[in-house]
Amino acid sequence: MNLFQVLALNALFLIGLAFGGLFSLVWPGIHADNDLRAGVALVFGIGFVLFFNWPIYRFFGWLPGAPTCPRCGSRKYAIISKNLPAAEYKCIQCGQVILLKDKEIIVLDELGNSYQQLKLKWPYFLGQWRKIPPPANP
Ligand SMILES: [Zn+2]
Repeated sequence: MNLFQVLALNALFLIGLAFGGLFSLVWPGIHADNDLRAGVALVFGIGFVLFFNWPIYRFFGWLPGAPTCPRCGSRKYAIISKNLPAAEYKCIQCGQVILLKDKEIIVLDELGNSYQQLKLKWPYFLGQWRKIPPPANP
């Protein structure tokens, strides 16, 4: 995460806190209980981050965190090309090329064929990936 991404995350959390605070002021039964109001505001703050951070990533053209290299386990990549929402990464240590397409990663072998696919897990901005099992051979 770069500085702008951290600032956006903090801003979303604060906006969510403010919305939660306002919401709990007008909701009957909550406004008298300060602990409950703080809890509602916290839930709104976290909810705003979880639901609105990815659209902000998209708006600014930020990429999710890359997965560990499937060949050597490194997380250091060079971005070869970026044509949003797609990008091409090359592992700095071993030269493995991976393709990011929207919320999927396609791992290429030396011949340029796909041999592994990863899917981005929700909430997408965290950059958590899971392997997609290859289709069963008939
Ligand atoms: Zn590698």
